Amino acid sequence: MDLVLSGRSVKLLKLCESLGFRTLDQLEPFAVADGPCPAICMTEECDKTCKTDKHEANGYCDACGGKTVVSAVVLAGLCEARKERNAVRIRELNDAFRTTLRGGSVMMTPGVAELPDCVKADVVSKVVSFGDFTEDNDPHGEHDFGSFDVVGRKFFWKIDYYDRTLTGGADDPADPDKTSRVLTIMLAGEY
Ligand SMILES: [Zn+2]
Repeated sequence: MDLVLSGRSVKLLKLCESLGFRTLDQLEPFAVADGPCPAICMTEECDKTCKTDKHEANGYCDACGGKTVVSAVVLAGLCEARKERNAVRIRELNDAFRTTLRGGSVMMTPGVAELPDCVKADVVSKVVSFGDFTEDNDPHGEHDFGSFDVVGRKFFWKIDYYDRTLTGGADDPADPDKTSRVLTIMLAGEY
């Protein structure tokens, strides 16, 4: 936790105190659950607490009349923290699959499948060893896409997430028990 007492952290501490919570970890369940979440008014010297939706960032305060009520989840950045943790988990799962070609299905588009075996082998080894992730090709830090050249042609690989039956998208790509990963290798022109 940030030790500089900004307005946000002061309010967050007040809210935790009013709930009898000693640590921010006790707020975590509200980030997961739907339903009412503790909230506090951000106005100086108002400190009115109430319950709101967990995503509330500018709710109406019936004590001071401001649109100043912020939920504990927003105040503590819990959803962002969860998203970040999920992205790390997804990246680990994607890397584990791509670098071993185990734990999912590997597909080649027709354009790749019909290349000579030695070129295909080179392409697959480039996919497995790929490490050139940038802000541009990996904005979410999930390592789910890459591109490279072999014999003067541009190739893409990407990882998609499906449910276990491969009939729909995955609900939670961070949960390997509920997700089938598919790695597709293609020529850039086939994207
Ligand atoms: Zn208020």
